Formats: sequence, structure tokens, C-alpha cells
Amino acid sequence: MTGNNTKKITVLGSTGSIGTQTMETVAFLGSFQVQAITGNRNVAEMERQIRQFKPKLAVMSDGEAGKELSLKTADTETKVAWGERALLEAAELDADILVSSIVGNAGLVPTMAAIKAGGRRIALANKETLVCAGHLFTKAILENHCELIPVDSEHSAIFQCLMSRGESEIRRILLTASGGPFRTKPISELYSVRKEDALKHPNWDMGAKITIDSATMMNKGLEVIEAMHLFSVPVEKIKVVVHPQSIVHSGVEFADNAIIAQMGTPDMRIPIQLALTYPKRLPSLAKPAELTEISQLTFEEPDLEKFGCLALALEIAGRTDSAPVVMNGANEEAVRLFLSDKIGFMDIPQIVRETVEKLGSLPADTIEEILERDRQSRRMVRELSL
Ligand code: NDP
Ligand code: MG
Repeated sequence: MTGNNTKKITVLGSTGSIGTQTMETVAFLGSFQVQAITGNRNVAEMERQIRQFKPKLAVMSDGEAGKELSLKTADTETKVAWGERALLEAAELDADILVSSIVGNAGLVPTMAAIKAGGRRIALANKETLVCAGHLFTKAILENHCELIPVDSEHSAIFQCLMSRGESEIRRILLTASGGPFRTKPISELYSVRKEDALKHPNWDMGAKITIDSATMMNKGLEVIEAMHLFSVPVEKIKVVVHPQSIVHSGVEFADNAIIAQMGTPDMRIPIQLALTYPKRLPSLAKPAELTEISQLTFEEPDLEKFGCLALALEIAGRTDSAPVVMNGANEEAVRLFLSDKIGFMDIPQIVRETVEKLGSLPADTIEEILERDRQSRRMVRELSL
């Protein structure tokens, strides 16, 4: 049964870390009709979601996985499809809210298709697409009467802080970072860390790619660029602050030097839920933050010598040529090689920088150019790592 307040929702990347937490939140809120869900290879989770949420359409990007899912769910009313065209069909299906939580640049074309389908809220977790095509996204959001609500915890925090803006300018955005698992390790030891060490994040439980990005602090670099696009601020007004407890999720400093910050337990279900229910705040699945138990909140400068990926992102953040796209594509490929034991941890910043030096000053103004720069940078990383 669907009531009058029921909203239609589509989740791109529903089988991932953000995707499964979104589906959990959707079930908890009980006020959504699921239109479409998409994944790549995780057939078991997709079958489970089909049976629980009864979507109209379920898409796997991977063809083999799609065929397997189709056989396994033949007794349900959900249409199962696979491949690129089907993913676009899912993105374009009529919906009030579309959650964009595919990892990496693979989310770019479907998210843009959803925006162009018009008249919907885009709850955006996929930061890589904003880094690559932020200017095209923000323009398309306006032209197609959509609304962009951030899911990334820091950007959700900033979005919440800006509710207290009044008539002030934004003096600075204080973008907090946990510092990842290697915050206190000396740089000399980082050459020998293994993927098992890098995959252990102290505070957040996330997908593999973003967990490695947190260990290199490229995640924070991508988030600086994400914040520039979402809140129209130059890089000079964004200050990265390392805050190991991950309780303050970010803050905004206003004209009078007052800082408004948002706090809570490190649980993505809070920003995910707010992106679904905004402007309403409803009870959530997350635990309250007990400040007296946490007792200490500390703040440090980031170590830009140790975290070369963050240093690079800060250097190129303001560029409008291909540098951000190339940095992102090279990083995705370098992380993939690190996760398959082909390169070392400290090769990631070096390879990404070299690729940006070689390919970073080309034009990247249209979707086609952006996709081409992405492909070129991945190819170059594979060559450099041989
Ligand atoms: P996961 O790796 O856990 O999930 C990724 C999702 O994308 C899965 O549904 C996966 O399918 C699908 N997918 C992977 N590759 C492709 C592809 N080539 N084409 C289509 N679909 C694909 O990632 P996360 O959930 O951790 O992250 C998702 C996004 O959210 C990222 O951009 C990340 O930076 C951002 N984010 C994540 C946070 C977190 O806490 N995890 C926090 C803030 C932002 P399958 O699993 O079926 O193969
Ligand atoms: Mg984040």
C-alpha cells in the first residue's frame, strides 16, 4: 500500500556501502516506493533488495551478473536488465529522489541522465562526478529544475551549517578530516604498508576505494573540490582541519568569526536520511553522540608532505582545464592497482602527480572531453606502473 506522502525513490549503486545504508534507511522510514535500484556485480544483495523492496526495475552494469540475477528473480514482478543503456533507463525513470551512490567516474553519465530527466532531488554521494563535471552538473541542476542535496558527511554538515547563515558571507569552510589510519605513522613507514593496513579506517566503515582514498587523504582533496562546486567558494576559503575523533563533521565561519559546526556520531545514516527527508528531521537509526564519553575533541593541521594526494588536490583545485578530471581518473586507476597488489601505497601520490603533469592542461569542458581525459589518464597510469 502506498499513502499520499509516499515518495518515489531510485538508488544508483544500491548494493554498495552507501547504497545498502540508504536501503536500510528507506525501510526504516517506510515512506518510499522504490522505483529502480542498480548494482554492478553483487547479485546476492540485489536479489535480497528485489525481494524486500519490490522495485519496478533492477539493473546490473555487468552483463553476466544481470543474467544470473534475472534467472534468480524470475518469480518476482521486478524487471531485471543489464548494461549501459539499462542503467540510463533506471536513472531516467520517474522519481522524486535519486540517490547517486555509484563509486567513481562510472556514476557520471547516469547521474547526468537523471538530472536531465528533470524535476527531482539528487541526493549525491558520488563525489568523483562533481570533481570531474561540477560546472556541468550545477548548471544542469538549475536548468532542469532539480535540487542537489549532499550525502557526503562533511558536505551535509556544511549544508546544515549554512541554514544559520542569515545574511553573512562565508568567511571560511572548515572541512574536517579524520586523518585516516596513517595519521600518526612516520612517512618512512608508509612505503611498506599493505592494503590490509590501509583498509582499516579508524572511524568509518566504507567501500574499498574511498577507504584507500581516506588513507592517502585524496578523499579530502576530492572533498575540497566537491565543496567548491556545491557551495560556490574558492579553494582559498576552504581550510582542511584534521580531527581524529570524527565527531565534528565540518563547520562554517561567518563574517563575525562565529563558527557554526555540526556534530554527531560517525554514521552515514544521518546524512543519508537528511538528504531523503530534508527539510524534515526525523528520528534515525544512528546512536546519539555522548560527548562526556568522547570527552576530547582535537584539531590539527594536515601533513601535506606525508599526504601528497591532498597537497596535489589543493594545488590544482582552482583549475578549469583537465587537471581535476585527470587527477581523479589517475587516482581511481592507481587505487585499483594498489588493491590488486600491483603498486605500493606511496606510488599512488607519485603516479597521480606525474599523470596530472602530463595530461592536466588539456580542455575538459564537455562530457565527451571529460570521459576522454578520464580514459587517457587511466591508460597513462597503467603505462607508468609497468
Ligand atoms: P562501494 O564500493 O561500497 O559501492 C559502489 C556501488 O557502485 C556498488 O553498488 C557497486 O556495485 C556499484 N558499482 C561499482 N562499479 C560500478 C560500475 N563500473 N558501474 C556501475 N556501478 C558500479 O562504494 P561506497 O558506497 O563506499 O561509495 C559510493 C560513493 O559514495 C563514492 O563516490 C564515495 O566516494 C561516496 N561516499 C561514500 C561514503 C561511505 O561511507 N561509503 C561516504 C561519503 C561518500 P556492486 O557492489 O554490485 O559491484
Ligand atoms: Mg566525506
